[in-house]
Amino acid sequence: MKNISNISFKGKRVLVRVDFNVPLDSQYNITDDSRIRAALICIKTIISSGGSAVIMSHLGRPRDGYEIGCSLKHLVSRLTDLLKTPVSFCKSCIGEDAFKKSMGLKQGEVLLLENLRFHAGEKLGDISFARELSTLGDAYVNNAFGTAHRKHASTSTICQFFKKTCFFGPLLASEIKNLDRVVSNAKKPLTAIIGGAKITGKIDVIKSLFKITDNVIIGGGMAYTFIKALGGQVGMSILEKEKINLAKELVAISRKNNVTLFLPNDSINASAFNNNAKILTSDIYNIPKGYMGLDIGPKSVEVFASVISRSRTIVWNGPMGVFEMSNFKNGTKKIGEAIAMATKNGAFSLVGGGDSVAALKLFNLSNKVSYVSTGGGAMLDYLEGKKLPGVSALED
Ligand code: AMP
Repeated sequence: MKNISNISFKGKRVLVRVDFNVPLDSQYNITDDSRIRAALICIKTIISSGGSAVIMSHLGRPRDGYEIGCSLKHLVSRLTDLLKTPVSFCKSCIGEDAFKKSMGLKQGEVLLLENLRFHAGEKLGDISFARELSTLGDAYVNNAFGTAHRKHASTSTICQFFKKTCFFGPLLASEIKNLDRVVSNAKKPLTAIIGGAKITGKIDVIKSLFKITDNVIIGGGMAYTFIKALGGQVGMSILEKEKINLAKELVAISRKNNVTLFLPNDSINASAFNNNAKILTSDIYNIPKGYMGLDIGPKSVEVFASVISRSRTIVWNGPMGVFEMSNFKNGTKKIGEAIAMATKNGAFSLVGGGDSVAALKLFNLSNKVSYVSTGGGAMLDYLEGKKLPGVSALED
């Protein structure tokens, strides 16, 4: 793994792919700058070794070219403040202006380019778009783990123009190192906790986890499809009818692989999908008609927490309930606390996925787990054993 720690970039323009896909409010103020902060070490390492940094990222999902709400210009002042270095901005990420600005950079200077996804070539992995981008740097660093699972121009195609001068940024390197502590050299027992609204999108990762884990805990909305598959009555709970057979298959695979699959045994139910609805706790296999399960119940919390306390490696993706509503946050909070406690007692814990990370923040637990991943999709792909295009392009 070629990383940047011992490289001198003196006099070089270093093109850095970061993940600055930060949330903005309606006035285009940044509401969470964690992703900018996560890139600071990388940028500072480059400029303190005598290089200049040309920073590129995507932001949001622009449909067809420029959209003001997706402009990276809204990030310039925050980046300047955090870096304590002036940051200049270029209204396009390719073209003459971008090239001139990059060539004009002096040692230690930083240039932020406009959103890569204003150009269709980015998501298409287009070679001529990648070639144009490549003219803006003498070396290339990828620090964007959040998009490492995408075969885009700035994450993958571009590497062919930097055969000997492409590097892992510190964040990307550390994500891979920490994920390997789960995927390749986990201390056993290894427990995976998977939650969130639906099974869809997490099927392959669940199957893959059955190959490497000792325990898989399933919570959140997806649990109700498993309960239905096992003959339970789930009332109005979120249910993926077309996935019932798949849930049965997953249960069978877990047995075949000798993995203990833990499903909730009780459920906190509501008469409607809102915080003020009537609430009733029941056995999860017997949710009354007219009620929907929105959180795991106290007995499930007890069982899950006990499994977690006996684990030496823990990976968590997806909340146990609708934690955004105060009446249905308890399960997610208690599981987060159980992971924090296990970590304190020596376990290695890795948490990823937008909602789980938001839950950690909400419950002040972010500093109490071993590693918080910055990538949801990329993390799931890596756990699944897939090669991430952004990583393999750097290794080729
Ligand atoms: P995902 O993006 O699939 O990880 O799903 C995260 C979302 O799942 C969160 O916004 C939760 O509110 C939601 N969720 C968790 N448990 C349930 C549930 N029992 N019913 C409906 N939604 C849920």
